[in-house]
Amino acid sequence: MINSTHSCQAQQHLSLCIYFDDERDDWILQFNHEVTAENLENYPHLETIGDIIAIGILTIQYCPYCGERLNNKKVTPDYQHVVLSHW
Ligand SMILES: [Zn+2]
Repeated sequence: MINSTHSCQAQQHLSLCIYFDDERDDWILQFNHEVTAENLENYPHLETIGDIIAIGILTIQYCPYCGERLNNKKVTPDYQHVVLSHW
């Protein structure tokens, strides 16, 4: 569950989102893998450019863009790749 989001120049990149996840009790950097024109050529069953087909979730302590400290506790490094649509 998203509790709050972090806003800085990271938001200029639409595929990135930095937020606090209440359930995990951690700040998360999420990046979205969106369907590109090239993906559509290679995988005809994909339908729309911009659809999110997979996400990467990374626990972070500091924002990697503006350097703001987000998490005051010690962060356990964790990475998850979640596939939303098979392609
Ligand atoms: Zn930032």
